[in-house]
Amino acid sequence: MPHPFTWVPGDHARHVSEDPVPPPGVEFPPDLTVTALCGREVTSAAGEIAWLWPTCPDCDGRARELVGAPPRTDSADGEQC
Ligand SMILES: [Zn+2]
Repeated sequence: MPHPFTWVPGDHARHVSEDPVPPPGVEFPPDLTVTALCGREVTSAAGEIAWLWPTCPDCDGRARELVGAPPRTDSADGEQC
């Protein structure tokens, strides 16, 4: 059972969205506007660089809640996004 959310690179960060988007492995369409878990409206970006952007900490935390994973213990990227 796949998780009901997808990572979306956009707005210079990697966000998580529950909107219907292509599954991982499928080329992600650019200029796709989705609502991220952090509440932002994110327009997806294309290219490998986009996937190297830092993780949105709000989306990361909410995604971890969805899957029941513990929150990050390292506070290093707490100030990003
Ligand atoms: Zn986000």
